[in-house]
Amino acid sequence: MALKRVLENVVNVFYPKLCLACESETYSGIIPVCVRCINELPIANLHKESENLITERLLGRIEAKAAGALFYFTKKGKVQHLIHQAKYSGDAQISKLLGNWMGRLLMESDLFNDIDVVVPVPLHYSKIKTRGYNQSAEFGRGISEILNKPVLNEALKRNRKAISQTSKNRIDRLTNVHSSFELNNVKGLENKHILLVDDVLTTGATIEACAEKLTSIEGTSISICVMAIVMD
Ligand SMILES: [Zn+2]
Repeated sequence: MALKRVLENVVNVFYPKLCLACESETYSGIIPVCVRCINELPIANLHKESENLITERLLGRIEAKAAGALFYFTKKGKVQHLIHQAKYSGDAQISKLLGNWMGRLLMESDLFNDIDVVVPVPLHYSKIKTRGYNQSAEFGRGISEILNKPVLNEALKRNRKAISQTSKNRIDRLTNVHSSFELNNVKGLENKHILLVDDVLTTGATIEACAEKLTSIEGTSISICVMAIVMD
């Protein structure tokens, strides 16, 4: 047995792997949730269709080559709990495991087999300071491990903390989001098929703002992948 496997087994004895969704059952195997939760979680399975809920929502704004989501977002359900843990638990591993899971699903789809690089939606540095990590970057890292492609965390930069969105009207909100991102390090992005990744897709304004910057680089094309898509 390889040393790594031996060590993993030792760790599992002392820290049994708890299901990320219910935190009461244990799981075994490569998907980090228990059998009951696998059956209950709303897995999106959009990644095999070139036109789907995500591409439709972004229609006329981003020409995505392909798009996928791990879950449908359901308020007060297990998915909300999972995403909340991924963002705020302080455990970056959760987002990475979700990324590994997503990566395995993407491998089943021909639409993602020519991805060159993974680029996460950045967090403002002050949020990274409080949370300790960027959940979207960890999700992207998990995907990149499976696709065996590099993840470029420095490609985009978030300029400033997003101002409270609730008091603004739609146009203000969009302008606000659009000026929040800029290209930072574009080395290695020219002529690449970029997989842009984020945690939750609602209106798609954040993804749109980031995609707009990335597609301004010569020869790039964009695909999208998120942990969860909010239903209307
Ligand atoms: Zn469970």
